[in-house]
Amino acid sequence: MESSKQRIDIDMNIPVLDFKFQHDLLKDEMLSAFTSVYESNWFILGKHLVNFETEYAVFNQVAYTVGVSNGLDALYLALKALEIGAGDEVIVPSNTYIATVLAVSYTGATPILVEPDPKTYNINPENIAKAITPQTKAIMPVHLYGQACQMDEVMAIAKEHQLYVIEDNAQAHGATFNGKITGSFGHINGVSFYPGKNLGALGDAGAITTNDFALAEKVKALRNYGSKVKYNNELIGHNMRLDEMQAAFLSVKLKHLMPFTAQRVQIADWYYKELQGVGDLVLPYIHPQATHAYHLFVVRTQYRDQLQKYLNDNGVGTLIHYPIPPHLQQAYAHLGYVKGDFPIAEELADTSLSIPMWPGMKHAEVKAVAMAIRSFFNEK
Ligand SMILES: *Cc1c(COP(=O)(O)O)cnc(C)c1O
Repeated sequence: MESSKQRIDIDMNIPVLDFKFQHDLLKDEMLSAFTSVYESNWFILGKHLVNFETEYAVFNQVAYTVGVSNGLDALYLALKALEIGAGDEVIVPSNTYIATVLAVSYTGATPILVEPDPKTYNINPENIAKAITPQTKAIMPVHLYGQACQMDEVMAIAKEHQLYVIEDNAQAHGATFNGKITGSFGHINGVSFYPGKNLGALGDAGAITTNDFALAEKVKALRNYGSKVKYNNELIGHNMRLDEMQAAFLSVKLKHLMPFTAQRVQIADWYYKELQGVGDLVLPYIHPQATHAYHLFVVRTQYRDQLQKYLNDNGVGTLIHYPIPPHLQQAYAHLGYVKGDFPIAEELADTSLSIPMWPGMKHAEVKAVAMAIRSFFNEK
């Protein structure tokens, strides 16, 4: 396409995600968090972790938060604490990030993929009900891109069939369904604090959230060599701890999470105004009872690859979340799925594009991105 080589008028360099605004804003607070850990001379399982766990539990409206090494390990330890393993089936959405599926595989259980609602991109409760077998032990809804799943229906199905629910809350910190915050519905839930997530550390980090004391205690043991009392190993555990430095950084960032989320919502509003009715573009649809934390702003078009190239040529960064659905990944070839088995997940993989979104993104930048998208469709 010749026109994609032409640059449109304004000179842009807009990345898909930019940390500079928040890092400038938080620099002094982050440096004092560093100093506090440095001078404590204590780096693993100390007071900074306990503080962050307490603060995050308050934020997430649960009784317990247990910090762990990352989001994938959080999901895995949640499943392990529930004693899910070989012979069990766990229902996961067919269009999730691979980590949800990997967590199930680590336990020896079988991931059962279920198609999402083509409007919200979140797991479709009707399809969950159809996938339940006598082996089913749990459902893992994923609040994809930042929008809360239809948790009332998910919890009702789980209750009826006596299944556990483990929310994958890696992308939706602070989102709600029917006014209730994600990460507080399931029996035990996993959250990621990967740097690019809405609440991000300066390295890898994650946590489980739960109201169940016994499950929280079990994860505390599992993350630390299966031991609650030093050198006394009750379980075959792991080294999957969240360190003091990351915990201290996360305490700083947690205070800014909701103001940053409000900025994401504002940016999304700007996009909705600028991109309404442009080409065949599909903008995010929000379920009437859900809120969206806009971890990502994902648009869809049949011309996705051309649009991505055009934006790239014009200095606008984008990403695809996710280009290959789990059932078509080589790692899962043994499950025997073929192209066509999950048509909604495949369609989403072929048409989705994440456009720039970060707290601190300016109105002028949003307008410039939208202008580039409009000129792509005009030139087509
Ligand atoms: C990021 C992510 C994870 C994994 O989190 P890490 O901290 O990177 O291990 C799991 N599930 C979803 C949906 C994610 O986006």
